Amino acid sequence: MDAMLNNLLRRLHSESKNSIGYPVSRDFDYSALAPFLEVAINNIGDPFLEGTYHLETHAMEREVLDFYARVFRAEPNQYWGYVTNGGSESNLYGLYLARELYPKGMVYYSESTHYSVQKNIHLLNMPSIAIRSQENGEIDYDDLYQTILLNRQQPVIMLINVGTTMTEAIDDLNRIREILRKLAIHHFYIHVDGALAGAYAAWLDPKPTFDFADGVDSIAISGHKFIGSPFPCGVVLTKKQHRDRIARSISYINNLDTTISGSRNGHAPLFLWYTLSQLGEAGMQQRLKHSQRMATYLLTQLRLMGIQAWKNEGAITVVFPAPSNIIRDKWQLATDNGQSHVICMPHVSYKQLDAFLADMKAVPVTKSQEVAVSV
Ligand SMILES: *Cc1c(COP(=O)(O)O)cnc(C)c1O
Repeated sequence: MDAMLNNLLRRLHSESKNSIGYPVSRDFDYSALAPFLEVAINNIGDPFLEGTYHLETHAMEREVLDFYARVFRAEPNQYWGYVTNGGSESNLYGLYLARELYPKGMVYYSESTHYSVQKNIHLLNMPSIAIRSQENGEIDYDDLYQTILLNRQQPVIMLINVGTTMTEAIDDLNRIREILRKLAIHHFYIHVDGALAGAYAAWLDPKPTFDFADGVDSIAISGHKFIGSPFPCGVVLTKKQHRDRIARSISYINNLDTTISGSRNGHAPLFLWYTLSQLGEAGMQQRLKHSQRMATYLLTQLRLMGIQAWKNEGAITVVFPAPSNIIRDKWQLATDNGQSHVICMPHVSYKQLDAFLADMKAVPVTKSQEVAVSV
């Protein structure tokens, strides 16, 4: 057993060094929380209510929610949420609330939307229409307008991306609200899939329109991506009034059944709370600045090599024509439609990028990657 565990640990650490293709931060040190692995924590029930089960971290969970409620400009005391198993569950929850509010609603989402959204829509048995995306991954507003126009009799459930998985594109809520206004749609629900960029979007400059003060109904973010955690987790935030519609009292736990899972990870809120308390908004902002610096560096260097790399404004994801399989495998690069990406999460360093660039230089540029650049 010792040998197996040692091998496993060695392999994970070694793979970790070259992990620049998936949005998972590794600049964390949770060793101070090790003693909490000796306790069977379970955050079953609603984080805002006392239940019969006392081995929980609801207070920390509420602090995590408070932090992002502030960042997302929610009305004080009028929001609700919980720490989920990840962005997928957070999206499921937002769509579930939307369906309960508008059972006859039509879901609209761009074709660049994460696969979890289509699966969730299927699970919830909701009618939906995929909208074309633009080249950069942002939703095509003309196609959205034309499509809603044909379905004007139905409430609109709009799924907005704040950071698409492949290109970190952000859908423009202002333009979408303008479309709803033009079509005189009064019944709508707006859910933000911020699994990738939602955790830092508030510190982007210019700041995108995507929060509660901008009129959205729910926001999903992942905890293990930008914030960083040894296990997957996420956050969903919504308006309290939406949650009240679905709350149901359960005598077995003397609490309200307002979450998707019953038993819930009690360590996740503790870990997220630990990082957010240590960093605060200023620390999060600094990490974003670092990530952006790395992304700009990588973009510039790739273009100097003649590779047709690009990125969305402010994004920490750099997109380029898929390199050889050897490089994609070594650096764990996700590839879709002939394009690969590097996501400059906060742990990514010049040293790591230089090693990656050296590999890219060692392999001849293919025809599709050639481009006349003037940097
Ligand atoms: C990662 C991601 C998800 C899914 O989140 P998980 O935490 O992996 O469940 C959903 N949407 C987008 C845009 C993502 O990047």
